Amino acid sequence: MTEPQNRNELLKSIPKTDRILERIPKSIPHTLKVTVCREVLDGLRRQILKGRISSAEALGLERVVGLVKDALERRLRPSLRPLINATGVVVHTNLGRSLLPEDVFKQIFEVAVNYSNLEYDLEAGRRGSRYSHVEPILCELTGAESALVVNNNAAAVLLTLETLARGREVIVSRGELVEIGGSFRIPDVMARSGAILREVGATNRTHLRDYENAINENTALLMKVHQSNFAVVGFTSKVSMGELKELGRRHNIPVIEDLGSGNLVDLTPYGFTHEPTVQESLKAGADLVSFSGDKMLGGPQAGIIVGKTELVDRIKKNPMNRAVRIDKLTLAGLEAILSIYRNPEEALKRIPTLKMLSMPYEETKKRAQRLARHLRRQGLEGVEVDYMDTISRVGGGAMPLQELKSRGVVLDLSRLSPKGVDAAALERELRAGEPPVIARIEDERILFDTRTIRDRELPVLSECVKMALKRAERASA
Ligand SMILES: *Cc1c(COP(=O)(O)O)cnc(C)c1O
Repeated sequence: MTEPQNRNELLKSIPKTDRILERIPKSIPHTLKVTVCREVLDGLRRQILKGRISSAEALGLERVVGLVKDALERRLRPSLRPLINATGVVVHTNLGRSLLPEDVFKQIFEVAVNYSNLEYDLEAGRRGSRYSHVEPILCELTGAESALVVNNNAAAVLLTLETLARGREVIVSRGELVEIGGSFRIPDVMARSGAILREVGATNRTHLRDYENAINENTALLMKVHQSNFAVVGFTSKVSMGELKELGRRHNIPVIEDLGSGNLVDLTPYGFTHEPTVQESLKAGADLVSFSGDKMLGGPQAGIIVGKTELVDRIKKNPMNRAVRIDKLTLAGLEAILSIYRNPEEALKRIPTLKMLSMPYEETKKRAQRLARHLRRQGLEGVEVDYMDTISRVGGGAMPLQELKSRGVVLDLSRLSPKGVDAAALERELRAGEPPVIARIEDERILFDTRTIRDRELPVLSECVKMALKRAERASA
């Protein structure tokens, strides 16, 4: 701690703004330079007043110019940028959910930098429909009569309810009134759509008679919602799509399902618990099914609605559809992803989300060995590199109970901790690096789950660790 009189001396020795600005490249806009310079100097003043800076050396012109340049660099780089996901959560909503294969991106690139037939019928030589690019393949893959794509699944659900049930009742089981992260809640979306939620059954058990007793002349839809991100276990009972369809048929009421994360391939051969695929839901009798493009499908953000032509046509004509319409880049990406699904084995190999989800434990083990080799090569002094079995998660609010056995690499910092560099400090510096690395902390150790780290990222990550460790050591010195 510095004495108060020293603090005044230190405050006076802060370099003058003009002298700093002279040394910043001319190419940077003047006002930005001034703003950032002021911020840095204010920060230094605060640190002096708190007694955290005790020598004039920390305030030398070169050092302060360096701080301003660093701050400018942080300000000028893109805010949204790539990072390494070492959490083992595959469809990580906060980290961008799904990754596109690079060749899919080429398709998006071509459509982005050229004019395209977005809404032009090349055969007829007149206006066409943007939906025509993905509707046929969606029908081919799912067996649906018709399809429509919108901005995301939340929009798909809202639009469907608004079109088919505004001012009328929609019957949903109390066990399916789910909240997805980010404020999407079935009861709230229902209210916004103008539909009236008619909840039936109990949280753990709903019977067919519960639906049947709630049907009246104002019932518009019977709706099933996938319990995406939670599970009810124990004394439970729910009504199958088949039974609901039969009930709907008798009363002439359509049955719809919000599948959330729609799977097009069955992952049970890869050790997954069974989840209905989009095809299965339609086959069981759903008149409409909606799902996300960027959850387990592994594509771009989109909401997909498939089902009966009569219902899909009504949704297409809703003026609200225009407000949630899909853009051309997403369409290009979605079409390319869907075409990979024509060969499901190909999809498991080429779509990163599916590849990571279906990656066997043995493969994660090999990757862990490779990562450990890279890390050891960095010669990280005082850091022990070891292995640990861990559990990866599907994420994205899908399959919450699904445990994917995986192999991680751990960094034990116990020999450095007395010097102030512990797992929390390193984790913070890893996030601050370029590219940032998002890791987990387990038992005071840094854990990298190798399932979500791509091959080419293995050497990059070890480089990032080295730099982060240096920064953490400097910060604690
Ligand atoms: C994820 C999810 C949604 C929202 O989908 P977005 O594509 O994120 O808008 C809606 N319903 C269910 C059941 C979900 O799991």
